[in-house]
This record gives sequence, C-alpha cells and structure tokens, in this order.
Amino acid sequence: MQENKKFIIPHRGKITKQDRRRLKGHKSFILWFTGLSGSGKSTIAHAVEEKLFEMGVHTYVLDGDNIRTGLNKDLGFSAEDREENIRRIGEVAKLFVDAGIVVLSAFISPYRKDRQFVRNLVEKDEFVEIYVKCPLEVCELRDVKGLYKKARQGIIKNFTGIDDPYEEPENPEIVLETDRETIEECVEKIINYLAQNNYLEV
Ligand code: ADP
Repeated sequence: MQENKKFIIPHRGKITKQDRRRLKGHKSFILWFTGLSGSGKSTIAHAVEEKLFEMGVHTYVLDGDNIRTGLNKDLGFSAEDREENIRRIGEVAKLFVDAGIVVLSAFISPYRKDRQFVRNLVEKDEFVEIYVKCPLEVCELRDVKGLYKKARQGIIKNFTGIDDPYEEPENPEIVLETDRETIEECVEKIINYLAQNNYLEV
C-alpha cells in the first residue's frame, strides 16, 4: 500500500483558496482554543461562531462532539493517541482553511509540540492560538461533565490537570481569563483582535 504513495500526483484545480475567500468576502483561518477541561473553550467557540455568523462570516466548530465520535473514535487519551488526535484535527482544520472557512477548534490540546505542529501546517496568519486560561480549582468546581470527580476517584485515568500535564502556551495570540472575564467580554476580545488585525476582510 505504502509503495503506491509514489504514484500520487496532485491534481491542480483552477479554483484557489484566494478565489474561495473572494467569493465569501473574508479571510479563512483557524481559531485554536486550548485550555483545561471546563475552562470554557466550547462555550466561547460557539458564542464567537454566533457572532461571526451574524456578521456574515462562514464558520465551522470542530469539537469533541463531532470529532471524537466520528473521525477520531478509534483514539483514546494516551500521549500517543492525543498526538494523533491533534494531528488529524489539524489536517481537517487546514482543509477548512483551504475551503475558505473560519474554523474554530475547541480541544484541550495539552501538549505544546502538538499545537506547534498545527501552527506549522498553515500559513503564518492562518493560526490564532487562544489560551482559555482558568485555574484548575475553578474548572474542577464547575465540573461541567462530572469528569474531574471521576478523575479524582481514579475512574478516569490520564486526565489533563490531574494525572496528565497541561503545557501552557508560551506566545498565544489571545489570552482569556474565564474566571475573571465574562463570556461576552471574551467574545468581544476575540472579535476585536480579528477586526484590528484585518482578519474579517479579504
Ligand atoms: P471546555 O470546552 O473548555 O471543556 P465548556 O465550555 O464545556 O468548557 O464549559 C465551561 C463552563 O464554564 C460552562 O458551563 C460555562 O457556562 C462556564 N463559564 C463561566 N464563566 C465562563 C467564561 N467567562 N467563559 C466561558 N465559560 C464560562
């Protein structure tokens, strides 16, 4: 099978990423939300999507609900599987960017090197890393899905923040502190960043 790889010759279509962007009237890029479970990635990603939708921007949210149950349902939470999880999400996100769509990705993505891998997959101005920062204690108090309780009881193993590390971003484009800023403030911060850096035009 691997041998056949050398016979893969890309077909160059006439329609380019730039053409698709012109048709849509805006740039395409990845808003990469990273942070602990319960920090607010999904909540904010969906709220930002709503706002962008109202503004006429074409969007799509990638999250556990549509990725872990389909494309990546064969993967678990070992370091190896987490790496493969992020690699596939990155490749899918890249296709969305090529399609001219703003893709919002909401995964813990705990390892720096995996996030860097995705950043390197696309052009410099196509990856906006958003650190959804929230102290572990607050995330644990929220315990939206009851997962922290199960991790503390040892029912769930390799849980980020409990018995698996979370590596904080070193130079994220945006930092949100969800224990201090409201959801509305976080959304506004992201929209302002995009407007100020000309992301919302072609
Ligand atoms: P994650 O996707 O990071 O696991 P969720 O978005 O599922 O987190 O859950 C975050 C929880 O925290 C939600 O119940 C949300 O209503 C609550 N929350 C409180 N304040 C904020 C805030 N400023 N930003 C985002 N979520 C917040």
